[in-house]
Amino acid sequence: RSKVAVIGAGIGGLATAIRLARLGIPVEVFEQAAYPGGKIREFRQAGFRFDKGPSLFTLPDLVDELLDDDLKFDYRKLEVITQYFFEDGTQLTAFADVDRFAEEVEQKTGIPVSGVLDYLKQAERIYQLTAPVFIFNAFHRLQKLLTWDNLKRLLQFFRLKAFSTLHQINVKAFPDSRLVQLFDRYATYNGSNPYRTPGTLSVISHLEHQLGAYFPKQGMYQIVDSLMEQAMRLGVQFHFSTPVSQLVVRSGQLTGIRVNGLERNFGLVVSDIDIHQFYSKLLPDKRRLEKIKRTEPSSSALIFYWGMKKRFPKLDLHNIFFSKNYKDEFACLFETKTISNDPTVYVFISSKEVKTDAPSGMENWFVMVNAPANVGQDWTSLKTEVRQSILTKLNRLLDEQLEAHILFEEVLDPVKIEDQTGSFQGAMYGPSSNSPFAAFNRHANFRRDLPGLYFVGGSVHPGGGIPLCLSSAKIVAEMVEEKMKR
Ligand code: FAD
Repeated sequence: RSKVAVIGAGIGGLATAIRLARLGIPVEVFEQAAYPGGKIREFRQAGFRFDKGPSLFTLPDLVDELLDDDLKFDYRKLEVITQYFFEDGTQLTAFADVDRFAEEVEQKTGIPVSGVLDYLKQAERIYQLTAPVFIFNAFHRLQKLLTWDNLKRLLQFFRLKAFSTLHQINVKAFPDSRLVQLFDRYATYNGSNPYRTPGTLSVISHLEHQLGAYFPKQGMYQIVDSLMEQAMRLGVQFHFSTPVSQLVVRSGQLTGIRVNGLERNFGLVVSDIDIHQFYSKLLPDKRRLEKIKRTEPSSSALIFYWGMKKRFPKLDLHNIFFSKNYKDEFACLFETKTISNDPTVYVFISSKEVKTDAPSGMENWFVMVNAPANVGQDWTSLKTEVRQSILTKLNRLLDEQLEAHILFEEVLDPVKIEDQTGSFQGAMYGPSSNSPFAAFNRHANFRRDLPGLYFVGGSVHPGGGIPLCLSSAKIVAEMVEEKMKR
C-alpha cells in the first residue's frame, strides 16, 4: 500500500488528506508554518478575533461533504450579501433574495427589474455549461474532457461570447455605470481584471446571488478547525514547522521527499504549495517556470485590521466603497503595479455575525484594497498613502472621523502574504484569469511523466478561491482512486 505525503496544509492540502485517508491510504502532511490553513488564518488581539484571509464563503456543500455528520458546523445564509456605497452618494443593498435585489436596483438606478433578472439567468446558464467542464473536471485528461456532453457544452460555450471581456458584457447588459462597476467587481473574486478577464466570469455573480453567500457561525477559520479535526480523526499525521525542501526523483521515478535533511519514501506525493515555488525550489525546472511566468499573477491585497471602539449600524458584514474610476484602478494594479489614489475599499466586519469577535459595543474591521503583485514596490510609503486615501474616502462617505475610533491596527501586505504562504509575488489566487486562455494555461493536477505526483490548491487547475481549491482536491482523490483500482 502506498503512503502519501501532502506538502502544505492549505485548504487544498487538508481536503486532499481527508479524501485520501477515507480511501484507506496512510497520509502524512508536511507544513512549513506552525499552524494549518495557509491563506486562511485568524488572529486575536485585545479581546477581538479577526479572520485574516478569506471572508466570503460560497458553495458550502464542498466543505460539508468532507465532514462526518457530527463535525459539520453551522453556517448561515446571508440575507444581505453586500452593502454598496458609490462615490455619487448612492447606497445599494444587495439582498440575497434576487427579486428584492432587482427591485432595489430599479429603485436606485432606474434599471428595470428584468435587467438584473435576465443577467443572472444568463450567468446561471454559463455556470451550467462551464462548471462541469472547467471547474469540477480533470480537464487536462483528454478522456475526461472529450466526452460528448462536454463537447456539446463547449460548443455552446463558444457561442456565449467567450471572447468578450466581463466589462464588455456588463456594459451591454446595463446602461448604468454603477451597475457595470458592481458586476465588474466579480473579476476580483479570483484576482483578475474585469477589462481583460473573459465574460464567462459572470458565473461568479451567479454563485453569490443565486447559489448563496454564507458565513460560518464561528467565522471563516472554523472551516480549517473542522477539517483539521476530521483529518486527525481519520488518522492523518501532521508535521508542522516542517518545510519540504525537495521532491526526490530517481531514474525518472518519484520516490519521495526530502525533509529535515532526510529522504522519506512515499509512493504518492500531493503538492498544495504555489506551483511557482514548487518548480523554483522543490523540483527546479526552468522551462516550466518560464511557462508559469507567462501568465500574469492575480492581484494581491493590502489589509488593515482595525479594532474599532464603537459600532456602525449603517454597515453590514460585507461593505464595498467603490472608486470613482474603476478603469484607472485596474490599470494601476496590472499595468503600473501600484495602487490608485482612490481605490475601491472593502470593509468586512465579522463581529456583525459572530458577536464574540469583538468586545461589547465594538467592532472588528478588516479593511482591504486590492494590491498589485509584489515586484519590489516601496510598500512602506504605499501603505502610508493608501491608509490616508482609505480614511479620507470612508470618512467622507460615512460622515465619520474614523481615526478617533481605531483602538489598534495590524497590517497585511503582499510581501507578508508571499513570506507566510509561499505565494508567488503575494498573489491571492495564483495565476490570474486575465485572458480567455487562462483556464487552458493553468498547471494540471498531475504530471503524466511522473506517476504518483499530484497538484492541488489555488495556483493549479481549476484555480484560486476556497471552492476551486476544494474541487482540485476532489479531482486528485478521484484520480488516485482510479489508479488504485487499476
Ligand atoms: P495555501 O493557502 O496557499 O497554502 C499553502 C501552504 O503550503 C501554506 O500553508 C504554506 O505555508 C505551505 N508551504 C509552502 N511551501 C512549503 C514547503 N516547502 N513545505 C511545506 N509547506 C509549504 N478565497 C475565497 O474563496 N474567498 C475569499 O473571501 C478569499 N479572500 C482572500 C483574502 C486574502 C487576503 C487571501 C490571501 C486569499 C483569499 N482567498 C479567498 C483565496 C483563498 O484563501 C485561497 O485561494 C486558498 O486558501 C488557497 O489554498 P491552497 O490550498 O492553495 O493553499
